[in-house]
Amino acid sequence: RPQFAFAGRSNVGKSSVINRLAGRKNLAYVGASPGKTTQINYFLVDGRAYLVDLPGYGYAKVSKAEKERWGKLMESYFQDKGGLITTGVLIVDIRHKPTENDLIMHYWFRESGCPEIIVANKLDKLKKSQVEPALSLIRDTLELAEGDALVPFSAEKGTGKEELIGLLNAACEE
Ligand code: GDP
Repeated sequence: RPQFAFAGRSNVGKSSVINRLAGRKNLAYVGASPGKTTQINYFLVDGRAYLVDLPGYGYAKVSKAEKERWGKLMESYFQDKGGLITTGVLIVDIRHKPTENDLIMHYWFRESGCPEIIVANKLDKLKKSQVEPALSLIRDTLELAEGDALVPFSAEKGTGKEELIGLLNAACEE
């Protein structure tokens, strides 16, 4: 079965995006316990695809030991699963320049050789005129090429859902 790995910094809205995609509430846990960096959660979607919820990163109040645990967990995930990831989905905050940790995750996905989709979440928090410059900043920071997938998204409003589902479905057919 195809395996989609979702990554993003804590509080970026990863759980909300996953819930929005799966079309039902409480598939993934939303909110609370930020900084839980010790667990990779797997969900089976419609018996068709594995949705892998990689632990959020970059939460300021996390201890050094916890950060190291996160690093080890990611390392082992990418070592074991590198070949199995159908698509990496990196969720960033459309309002901000991608963080150092976003870049690290981005390069891990690239190195693993899987295609990647960048989801720029919290679109509803920007004015229309702010969207294009925000997307450009994300493109430049992540050094995306012309054809690379960058989806403006709002987990809150549902914007971008069809586009993202379309890209994920296309990845299944490849
Ligand atoms: P996670 O830590 O990345 O899993 O983030 P959550 O899904 O728990 O969301 C963190 C916070 O951001 C919650 O308060 C969500 O309601 C909020 N949030 C998530 N997505 C959006 C969005 O698209 N727009 C807005 N305005 N808020 C969002």
